Amino acid sequence: MGKGKVWLIGAGPGDPELLTLKAARVLGTADVVLVDDLVDRRVLGHARAGARIIEVGKRGGCKSTPQAFIEKLMVRFARRGAIVARLKGGDPFVFGRGGEEVEALKAAGVVFEVVSGVTAGIAAPAALGIPVTHRDAARGVTFLTGHARDGAEPNWQALRATGTTLVIYMGMKRVATLVAGMLEAGFPADTPACAIRNGTLETQAEVVTTLAALPGAAAAARLDSPAILVIGEVVSLARAAVVHMEAAA
Ligand code: SAH
Repeated sequence: MGKGKVWLIGAGPGDPELLTLKAARVLGTADVVLVDDLVDRRVLGHARAGARIIEVGKRGGCKSTPQAFIEKLMVRFARRGAIVARLKGGDPFVFGRGGEEVEALKAAGVVFEVVSGVTAGIAAPAALGIPVTHRDAARGVTFLTGHARDGAEPNWQALRATGTTLVIYMGMKRVATLVAGMLEAGFPADTPACAIRNGTLETQAEVVTTLAALPGAAAAARLDSPAILVIGEVVSLARAAVVHMEAAA
């Protein structure tokens, strides 16, 4: 058997057409595919017939495969000479634990390569016509997790001072707490804000509203995970149709 290798591949935000050409090509060469549960199953259509597909979902609250076991599997298959595709939602290096997996591969001396993917924090707002940066409305963009490992809250005052759009991953369950923190730190209550669930998929649902109204609006629309929260002036650029839908709801 040839030398094994692990490809860390971003599968994009949801819509299977947002997969890169490289991801599709490399997937077609893999002997083993380790796939996360956020990855749309249509993406697996690019795997070759006979490839071994292993589901290693680890979504919050669901039955999950421990991270250490996933890392062991990658190393084991690669050492046996297999081409391993580690398929992750969005971009593998944006809140995807790709960094941890790369450390494990390095420690084990396994050859690896990364194929970037389209991240949900850019693609979900884009699906509503929201640019995460805009020369007139945001100095930049900050990607945050709403659910830090150490349980600490973000430094909202410092974030407010940056004048950047805030894009929050994994924030839906804690949206009320996050918004309370922002308001307390002086973010204006009428700052445009939105929540987008299943962005870029047929099942996409969203609320476009203001910061203060976001938790209530998201609850009323029964938006749950996986969702992206976007806070900032750029949200006012959401295409009109979406804003009207929300106003009518
Ligand atoms: N690596 C991924 C993020 C993994 S963390 C990426 O780059 O996109 C998982 C979080 O991503 C979810 O809790 C949610 O906040 C976000 N997410 C992933 N796919 C999404 C989608 N289609 N719509 C909205 N949010 C999504």
